[in-house]
Amino acid sequence: MIVVMQPEATETEIEGVTEALTRHGLQPSVSRGAECTVIGAIGDVDAVGDLSVFSILSGVDKLVRISAPYKLVSSREGHRRSTIRVGPALIGGTNFAFIAGPCAVETPEQAAEACAAAAKAGATVLRGDVYKHRTSPYAFQGLGAAGLEILAEQKARFGLPVVAEVLHPSEVDAMVDVVDIFRIGARNMQNFDLLRACSLTGKAVMLKRGLSATIEEWLLAAEYAASSGNLNIILCERGIRTFEPATRNTLDLSAVSVVQQKSHLPVIVDPSHGTGSRSLVAPMTLAAVAGGCDGIMIDVHPHPELARCDGPQALLPDELQTLAERMWQLAAWMGREVPASVASAGHDLG
Ligand code: PEP
Ligand code: MN
Repeated sequence: MIVVMQPEATETEIEGVTEALTRHGLQPSVSRGAECTVIGAIGDVDAVGDLSVFSILSGVDKLVRISAPYKLVSSREGHRRSTIRVGPALIGGTNFAFIAGPCAVETPEQAAEACAAAAKAGATVLRGDVYKHRTSPYAFQGLGAAGLEILAEQKARFGLPVVAEVLHPSEVDAMVDVVDIFRIGARNMQNFDLLRACSLTGKAVMLKRGLSATIEEWLLAAEYAASSGNLNIILCERGIRTFEPATRNTLDLSAVSVVQQKSHLPVIVDPSHGTGSRSLVAPMTLAAVAGGCDGIMIDVHPHPELARCDGPQALLPDELQTLAERMWQLAAWMGREVPASVASAGHDLG
């Protein structure tokens, strides 16, 4: 950390800061410039707790933090990226994860058709929510335990791992036997009790970016899961709240590269929730793959016009298939390994 002093700071004020740093176990080193004095502080700044204690000292202009406040999820030496194994699926590293399925499990038939479309398109993981976090309390809230049974059937049918949203720590026990990846939704990104409860199961955790979360807040939330001893964390960019109403959210594709520079965790993109619009899913999927994301998650529905949740953004099975073929080609071109099941399905991946 560096403490920048005000240009008019006196020697007594500079001394006051060096003493305060020393009292907190840090080693100060004063550099006097023509305009102002800066004081470097070396040591365990995290042990201090709240660094803003230094900003209220007399003569201090600002504090500049050098090391990232997150440790376990921070990028590793040589930028080695982590790979997470979820059943037969590999996520991160040079792999490419394709997650698809219904936004919500609505009926056995709808889930079966949506999951069949996902599997045919080469999904490595199926999605299908049974508990929904809706903006309105009157909107469809998911089928709960009955939905979990339907999801378990689809998981067994295709032999693919499944991801589903968990809303509350009390749901973890009921879900743990079916779900392979616990998804923490945008509205729960900083629900640290929920993050801890999921991460203690040892299963993978997908952490969506909060509606208005900065990348640092997102990575610090991931650090909560990591600090419970589970590094099987997948980050998911799903758009953020901005002033622009043309899309449901503003999909922040630059976040993918920023996160990959700052963290070793895989980062995937959800263009369905990121845009809220079926016509934007294909272009944003391809843009995200070209931008180097570690995977994509897409909503598919056999009858979007009848969907109880998020119909306008769901692709039809045929649309998913067409997009997936282009997506896998692009992923291969980007140097990603394509699962054998996709390569053998005859897509031209040359
Ligand atoms: C979802 O993926 O179904 C979902 C609710 O997304 P988010 O938490 O990003 O809004
Ligand atoms: Mn949804």
